[in-house]
Amino acid sequence: MTNPALETKGLTKAFGGLMAVDNVSFALAQGELLALIGPNGAGKSTCFNMLMGQLRPTRGSVHLNGADITGLSPRRIWRMGVGRTFQITATYASMTVIENVQMALLSHHGQVFRIFPHAHKMHRDRAMALLEMVGMAAQAERHCAVLAYGDLKRLELAIALAHEPSVLLMDEPTAGMAPRERIALMQLTADIVRDKGVSVLFTEHDMDVVFAHAHRIMVLNRGQLIAEGNVAQVREDPRVQEVYLGGGTVFASEGAAENA
Ligand code: ADP
Ligand code: MG
Repeated sequence: MTNPALETKGLTKAFGGLMAVDNVSFALAQGELLALIGPNGAGKSTCFNMLMGQLRPTRGSVHLNGADITGLSPRRIWRMGVGRTFQITATYASMTVIENVQMALLSHHGQVFRIFPHAHKMHRDRAMALLEMVGMAAQAERHCAVLAYGDLKRLELAIALAHEPSVLLMDEPTAGMAPRERIALMQLTADIVRDKGVSVLFTEHDMDVVFAHAHRIMVLNRGQLIAEGNVAQVREDPRVQEVYLGGGTVFASEGAAENA
């Protein structure tokens, strides 16, 4: 049997007396698009930060393709093929769209931007191919400062893909986007998962987006995984309904996929 792309065992993070993430074990299969949902403060970002090396777990372990990566630095984990997109976009506003991707490609190849006088010519074709993949080729020469928010997020995805990650972690990739843009970005992500075999773990507020695209869903509440399964299983789970009760809109999304 092949190893999961990413696996946690008993992952735990305590902030003082608060168990932000409490004994969380899960596996992300190869080529899976897995959603981690839960109310604000459930521990999703804390979980992501441990997977990416930003936070050291209090207990438990993280395995990447079978290798223990617990406690490694963010840089090490990134170099081992775990890519990420950020809750806040991390692009260089003063550079053009394609320059941002070229810089990511230079970094991926261990090259340093400033010591290459002809850096603007390097990796242009590959950068253009990545921009095409995310539907940003027509905007390649625009400065990032003038981009619409949704376009910045698509650029950010191209930058993450420049590193050819085997696992991609997306913490609220569609935060701040209009509903139509959210669906489009996750559709794009789903296409990339299918075409490139990348394994993706993502968090997302918008249940329409989650239900339309996730292969499987895990629900976190107060640091604990309370449910896991496909869309129908999670939707019908009484514990999940209890957590989201009062949220109101969460289960009002029947037919989300058809409306996309
Ligand atoms: P989510 O991403 O699901 O909204 P978080 O992981 O950001 O949740 O937060 C989980 C809990 O941990 C919250 O109660 C939050 O206030 C707390 N928390 C997060 N980061 C820290 C920190 N660095 N120090 C103390 N408490 C934190
Ligand atoms: Mg969060």
